[in-house]
Amino acid sequence: MLRRGGLVAFPTETVYGLGADAADATAVRRLYAVKARPVDHPVIVHVANSSQLDDLANDVPPWGRALAVAFWPGPLTLVVRRRTGAVCDEVTGGRDTVAVRVPAHPLAHALLAAFAGGVAAPSANRFGKVSPTTAEHVRADLDGDVDMILDGGPCAVGVESTIVDATGGEPVVLREGGVRIDAIAHVVGGDVRLATNGEVAAPGTLPSHYAPLARVEVVAAEDLAPQPGAFVLALDAVAVPAGLERLAAPHDADEYARMLYSQLREADARGAQVVLAVPPPAEGIGAAVLDRLTRAASVRRR
Ligand code: AMP
Ligand code: MG
Repeated sequence: MLRRGGLVAFPTETVYGLGADAADATAVRRLYAVKARPVDHPVIVHVANSSQLDDLANDVPPWGRALAVAFWPGPLTLVVRRRTGAVCDEVTGGRDTVAVRVPAHPLAHALLAAFAGGVAAPSANRFGKVSPTTAEHVRADLDGDVDMILDGGPCAVGVESTIVDATGGEPVVLREGGVRIDAIAHVVGGDVRLATNGEVAAPGTLPSHYAPLARVEVVAAEDLAPQPGAFVLALDAVAVPAGLERLAAPHDADEYARMLYSQLREADARGAQVVLAVPPPAEGIGAAVLDRLTRAASVRRR
């Protein structure tokens, strides 16, 4: 299907991706059209093995390779200098850089290994909406517009990859995600700068993204108060006042991340007016959860 220019949704450990042959401009243009994604927002290219990095990239710095060794397969994306002709211009929004990831899900690995080339794959949802973490979410969002959906069960991480810009002298984190910043700092042996609201056009870093139909409010546990149509998303350790209904009670930040997007969808399914989200502590994957909640909360509504 990929070789014929088709669109194939597949599971990864982060979220479900919508895949197209990264060398096929027509297929990638259709991918953007189906997502209604602005064409200047580049997508991540997925490959089966770290050894394929040099098929796509030039001038990867030693610390970039060290990050690949440490975290691939896994939820880390490296933005690197693009090798001429390796992917079509549509994938990179015309930039001279390309984002590369080796996902850890066995089904993603099997697909990518069989295909052998790079697969461009943003999240398998309409632009700006909640990312999918099950095949059912993909079907609900995109059925009819995709050629095939591979079902690999619910995603184990539940939020997108950490994106590291490896095109300069030192690593810069463009998006927080499945790999902890302190683990990246440990591998590179120094501090890591965050530029998660920066100049680089990155859809996941737009102020408003990841939003359900319900309004999202990020609140502190002590500020929870009953209001009409409100549902609470908070760790099980958070006491929820009488008169407020919980969506779910994740036990820790990992579980919170894993259920985040499905619970935002659940809120819409239950007709919620507002989701009162008490974020987990903002360290490790909790920082990525807070980032997504904050962006979902900043959607402007009339
Ligand atoms: P998505 O797959 O929709 O979660 O988003 C893909 C992410 O990859 C975007 O948010 C961008 O930040 C990033 N990205 C992809 N290609 C590039 C590139 N060439 N330069 C910088 N960032 C990129
Ligand atoms: Mg996305």
